[in-house]
Amino acid sequence: MSITLYNTMTRSKDPLTPRDGDQVSLYTCGPTVYNYAHIGNLRTYVFEDILKRALIYRGYTVNHVMNVTDVGHLVSDADDGEDKMALGAEREGKTVWEIAQFYWDAFRADIERLNIIEPTIWCRATEHIEEQIQQVQLLEEKGFTYTIDDGVYFDTSKLDDYGKLARLDIEGLRAGARIEVTEGKKNYTDFALWKLSPKNSTRLMEWESPWGMGFPGWHLECSTMAMKYLGEYLDIHCGGIDHIAVHHTNEIAQAESALGHEWTKCWMHGEFLTLAKSDDSAGGKMSKSSGEFLTMDVLIDKHNYDPIAYRYFLLGAHYRQQLAFSWEGMDAAASALARLKRIVLSTRDGYTGEQEPLTDCIEEFDAAVVDDLNMPRALAAMWKAAKNTTASPGEVYATLLHMDCILGLGIAEMAPVEIADGADEEIDALVEARTTARAEKDYARGDEIRDQLAEMGIEIMDSPEGTTWRRI
Ligand code: AMP
Ligand code: ZN
Repeated sequence: MSITLYNTMTRSKDPLTPRDGDQVSLYTCGPTVYNYAHIGNLRTYVFEDILKRALIYRGYTVNHVMNVTDVGHLVSDADDGEDKMALGAEREGKTVWEIAQFYWDAFRADIERLNIIEPTIWCRATEHIEEQIQQVQLLEEKGFTYTIDDGVYFDTSKLDDYGKLARLDIEGLRAGARIEVTEGKKNYTDFALWKLSPKNSTRLMEWESPWGMGFPGWHLECSTMAMKYLGEYLDIHCGGIDHIAVHHTNEIAQAESALGHEWTKCWMHGEFLTLAKSDDSAGGKMSKSSGEFLTMDVLIDKHNYDPIAYRYFLLGAHYRQQLAFSWEGMDAAASALARLKRIVLSTRDGYTGEQEPLTDCIEEFDAAVVDDLNMPRALAAMWKAAKNTTASPGEVYATLLHMDCILGLGIAEMAPVEIADGADEEIDALVEARTTARAEKDYARGDEIRDQLAEMGIEIMDSPEGTTWRRI
């Protein structure tokens, strides 16, 4: 059973056929480090992590490269607007270099908390300026560029298939184009390869180049570094859906014009996390530049969630479906995770390392994984195993452990929360509250308290004589 993945280029689920046998080259567009990643950005990285884990699970070796955008690009996709890094530096009274380092560190802390496996290679745009200049020179030699006052541009009219990824209606775009903001740009879809610094002023980040002082266009860093580290052919390239029409379209134009052949086999895009309308938000797209966004720190420090509860929340939707964030959804994820933890803690003792995972559950799980990473179905298979009362605890645990290679919920590390001395009274009170809830037929509340106790490492036992508890 080979894994099938939805390829934005073909608009179909295609079986994966890596160019190099069991080696997969994977490039994922990384963070722009001028601010914290918001939980929407992190949804995309969790999707990419599931992809990578699924490939490893299926026996592939994954060579994964992720860039760090630390060059001060402009706030809008259309090569205009303000420099994001400069905005960050101004906001915090730091240098652009300090800003980049700080938010890259913060990003790595976020992905670690979400159990996202680090890329094989991280590459920073500012450390690859020379290579980017060489790419522009190559494109220039091949006749794909023109230079105007503002910089060197890619002439998209030179390509018959420009826009093929997004299936852009180039004629329609031309007809509906607004007045060009950049004087001298030949076509609406042309984009900057090298932007020149404004005359008589110095930018916070700028470099010498054959065309003058300036900085590389945003799309350039990804295609250049992907080719440097992963070669002329790329198996899979990922990002969020917002990258289809401009960023990835322009990466393709650059890479395929430089190489003279097709570049990436499979393009995969994660759908957006949106904000449900609530008291603290107007709803809609979550974005960094609008200033209104939720971060992992907010979820953890302000709302007391386990970061893995957010990962669990994300697994509940297929990556190609839009997902609305809500606190109710987070609560449901947190209590499902607590329930799972209870089962993990109570079955682990029976596991000797000898037991085999439950075949039928694994078959269902695998079928879901190879069907374009269907995590909601994979979770259902996990719960089928978790709730199995006929199998031995050791077999249940073996199954959960096996599935966790992809789910990444940290089953092996789940541990009871340390209980402070003298906490017994608190536990007694919770057990009593549960008994009352059940007497009042409020079973949902009863289960919630049971999960809360499980989180604390407490198991409760009901018997005709009453309820007792023990530490596990
Ligand atoms: P950025 O740091 O803005 O370059 O974005 C990092 C990644 O997050 C990119 O792959 C974007 O496509 C993706 N992204 C941006 N906003 C969202 C969102 N609301 N939901 C999911 N992914 C997003
Ligand atoms: Zn990119």
